[in-house]
Amino acid sequence: MGAGPAALCIASELIQQGLNVSALASHSPKEPWPNTYGIWAEELESLGIASLLGHRWKDTVSYFGNGKNEEGANPTSHDFDYGLFDQAAFQNALLDRCEGLNWAIETAEKILFVEKLSEVVCSSGNKYRARIVIDASGHRSRFIRRPNHGDVAQQAAYGVVGRFSSPPVNKNQFVLMDFRSNHLTKQELKEPPSFLYAMDFGNDLFFVEETSLAYSPPVSWETLKDRLIARLSSRGIEIEQVSHEEYCLFPMNLPLPYRNQSILAFGGAASMVHPASGYMVGALLRRAPELAKKLSEFMSIEPALDSADLAAKSWNILWPPELVQRHRLYQFGLKRLMSFDEALLRSFFATFFRLPKEDWSRFLANTLPLPKLVFVMLRLFTISPLKVKLGMIGIVIV
Ligand SMILES: Cc1cc2nc3c(=O)[nH]c(=O)nc-3n(C[C@H](O)[C@H](O)[C@H](O)COP(=O)(O)OP(=O)(O)OC[C@H]3O[C@@H](n4cnc5c(N)ncnc54)[C@H](O)[C@@H]3O)c2cc1C
Repeated sequence: MGAGPAALCIASELIQQGLNVSALASHSPKEPWPNTYGIWAEELESLGIASLLGHRWKDTVSYFGNGKNEEGANPTSHDFDYGLFDQAAFQNALLDRCEGLNWAIETAEKILFVEKLSEVVCSSGNKYRARIVIDASGHRSRFIRRPNHGDVAQQAAYGVVGRFSSPPVNKNQFVLMDFRSNHLTKQELKEPPSFLYAMDFGNDLFFVEETSLAYSPPVSWETLKDRLIARLSSRGIEIEQVSHEEYCLFPMNLPLPYRNQSILAFGGAASMVHPASGYMVGALLRRAPELAKKLSEFMSIEPALDSADLAAKSWNILWPPELVQRHRLYQFGLKRLMSFDEALLRSFFATFFRLPKEDWSRFLANTLPLPKLVFVMLRLFTISPLKVKLGMIGIVIV
C-alpha cells in the first residue's frame, strides 16, 4: 500500500524474489513524489547506485558559532560528499525493478482478516485479498497500531528554491546546518532553535531551508519563513524569484509499532525515520532486500502461515532487538537535544562533528552495531564541554 519511496523499495525487492505482488495507492506511481530527498553520497556508493544523484557536493560545511572569537565561528568542513537524488531517475529506477507489478489506484479504507487472509477494503468499495499486506502509506498511516507515548516531536522546515540578490551560500557549496543566530532577538533566542539547510544548484539557483530539527508542538511554517527571511536579510540577501516552496513536516520519534499486528509496515508507517537526523531513504534501500528475502522464505517454507503469523515473523526482521535498542538510544538523545537552547545545541553539534568521520557518518546512517554506537555516544560525552555534558544528563543551566 502506497507509492512513495518506501512502497517502491519494498515492492521492487518482493518482485525480485519472484513473489506475486499487487500494489495499491491513492495516486499513480508515476506521479512525481512531492519531496526532494537528500543523502550522504557514501550511503549510495556502498549500494552501487550513486549515479542516481542529481546533485553532488564536495564542499560540505556547517556553522556552529556566532561571534568572531567563538568556537565554530568559521565553517566546520565535513569533508564528506552530500547529494540530492535525481527524483525522476530514482523513482523510475525503482519502478523499472517493479516490472510486472499490478497497480490499483485506490485509497484503502480498512483492513480486515478473512479466512487467514488480509482483505483491503477501498473507498471505491473494491476489496483486495492477500496473504500479507505491507502498509507503506507513510507516517500518518491509519492502519498501524502503536503505543501512545504522548506528544510526538516533528521536524518542520520552510524552504525556497529560487534566485537571490546575492548568493546565500558559496558557489558549489552545501550547508548542512548553519546555526548562526546573530540576527535573532533575545526573545527569539529563547524560542526553539532552527538552522539553515542550503545548497547551490548552479546557474544562480539555490535552495535555502529554515529547519527545526524536532520539536513538540512543531515550530510553525510562518515562524520558519520569518526566520529565513530575517537570516537572509541580516546578510543583505533578498529572495528575487521563487521557483518552488517546500513545506516540510514529519514525525521524528513516532513510537515503534506493536509487533503483534497482522499487517506489516515499511517506511514512515513503520517508524523507520532516524530519530536523530530525520533521514530514512538510505535505510529503506539497505533494509528492503533482507526483509523481502525473509518474507519470501517464510511464505514458501511455511505455506500454512496466515497473515498474522507472517506479519509477526516479519516485524521481528524489521525491528529486531538490536535495532530496537539502537532506536531507543537515538530517541533518548533526541529528547535531550530538544531540551537544549540554541547556544547549547550549537556547542553540541560542534562537538558531534569533531568525532571521527566514520563515527559521525555511521551514527547518522544508523549503521553502527549497538556496542559501537554505545561507545561512540560515550566518546561524544567524554569530549563534550561541561555544559553539554550536563545537558546530556538532563541538567540544563539557564
Ligand atoms: C518535505 C520532506 C522532505 C524530506 N526529506 C528527506 C530527505 O532529504 N532525506 C530522507 O531520507 N528523508 C526525508 N524525509 C523523510 C522521509 O524520508 C519522507 O517522509 C518519505 O517520503 C516517507 O516515505 P514513505 O514512502 O514512507 O511515505 P510517503 O512518501 O508519504 O508515501 C506514502 C504513499 O502512500 C499513499 N497512501 C497514503 N494513504 C493511502 C491509503 N489510505 N491508501 C492508498 N495509498 C495511500 C500516498 O499516496 C503515498 O504514495 C522528508 C520528508 C518530508 C515531508
